Amino acid sequence: MTEQSDIMEIRKSVRQLCEKFGEDYWLALDRETGYPTEFVKELTASGFLTVLIPEEYGGAGLGVFEAAAVMEEVCRSGAHAGACHAQMYVMGSVLRHGNDVQKKAYLPKIAAGELRLQSFGVTEPTTGTDTTNLKTMAQRDGDHYVVNGQKVWISRIEHSDLMVLLARTTPRDQVGKKTEGLSAFIVDVEKAVGNGLTIQPIESMINHHSCELFFDDLRIPAENLLGEEGKGFKVILDGMNAERILIASECVGDGRYFIDKASAYAKERVVFGRPIGQNQGVQFPIARCHAEVEAASLMVEKAARMFDAGEPCGAEANMAKMLASEASWHAGDVCMQTHGGFAFAKEYHIERKFRETRLYQIAPISTNLILSFIGEHVLGMPRSF
Ligand SMILES: Cc1cc2nc3c(=O)[nH]c(=O)nc-3n(C[C@H](O)[C@H](O)[C@H](O)COP(=O)(O)OP(=O)(O)OC[C@H]3O[C@@H](n4cnc5c(N)ncnc54)[C@H](O)[C@@H]3O)c2cc1C
Repeated sequence: MTEQSDIMEIRKSVRQLCEKFGEDYWLALDRETGYPTEFVKELTASGFLTVLIPEEYGGAGLGVFEAAAVMEEVCRSGAHAGACHAQMYVMGSVLRHGNDVQKKAYLPKIAAGELRLQSFGVTEPTTGTDTTNLKTMAQRDGDHYVVNGQKVWISRIEHSDLMVLLARTTPRDQVGKKTEGLSAFIVDVEKAVGNGLTIQPIESMINHHSCELFFDDLRIPAENLLGEEGKGFKVILDGMNAERILIASECVGDGRYFIDKASAYAKERVVFGRPIGQNQGVQFPIARCHAEVEAASLMVEKAARMFDAGEPCGAEANMAKMLASEASWHAGDVCMQTHGGFAFAKEYHIERKFRETRLYQIAPISTNLILSFIGEHVLGMPRSF
């Protein structure tokens, strides 16, 4: 376990790195839907984006607890972590389910920043959250799989060398359990584009580089199968707890960003001859948000510690993500209200962060689905779907 002083040192170093990329950098990227190439390069070179990769593959070999601290500081600085966060955790599928050849081929290069694996293709337009109902098929043909189907909202694929793809290898009506018959693959994006994969960017509310994907007889070498054929759902599922904890830590960072901004502005903005923060109608909502973010942060810490100890932490990871995403959204709303009309001016950066943090109540999993998980799996109430 990392000492308190070490984690403070990590946080300080991340803050120093982020200071080089001020809020105007992120605003410019948001305006032109640009990719933060320089930021990602520095975050990788400093070792922060690869903290979860074991030392034997060139990473820092740290845990989700430390990774969460990195992501929280990135978001607290005003940055948009969505452009790169998946580089931290998608590789977990290779680490936990890849064979030796795959691990040696990919992980050291990801750690060195030579390869980007920050895209995962799960969501489909007609099935949404009902993942096991997905329609994309991968059929074995000699030493290849041939993929046909469609995905939606697949983020960062235009800025990723590799994608982890989830597809059906056995039709749903031919398997005993609906989670069976799905398989995960590593797709070489550059080779795939124009050879069966078409990428169509989606114009969206935030600069997340999300795309629609169309597969038309894309041939994937059989050696790119990740884990066992038919067991791909587990490959994806295993990565979800880490993803949820890290997204939750980003929300804590966003929440703290909004509270920093709101409390600073409330102290300095004078209306009716006194700082607006002197009015309890302005002060109390900010104080309440602070309490909510601190509480969510404790749940993130608990989930991260359990994950790193190898304990089952599905409930805690889900609760952390739900509480943190709600706390950051509330803090964003209060920050907007505190700034009055200026909250709408792009140069204040709040409206951008407000848009960005809203995503996390929907993706990577929506709040309702988390509530249903808690209701059914933690509290033992009847299954609703
Ligand atoms: C910016 C962005 C980036 C994304 N990046 C990726 C990515 O990189 N890779 C990827 O695979 N996916 C990605 N996604 C997809 C994301 O994971 C899904 O949007 C999310 O899981 C919700 O699925 P859906 O949009 O199909 O909503 P639906 O499943 O259609 O649900 C719509 C609404 O109905 C609710 N709902 C549905 N069923 C029930 C039920 N039984 N009970 C109660 N409520 C229910 C949901 O909670 C939700 O609020 C991204 C999405 C966005 C917006």
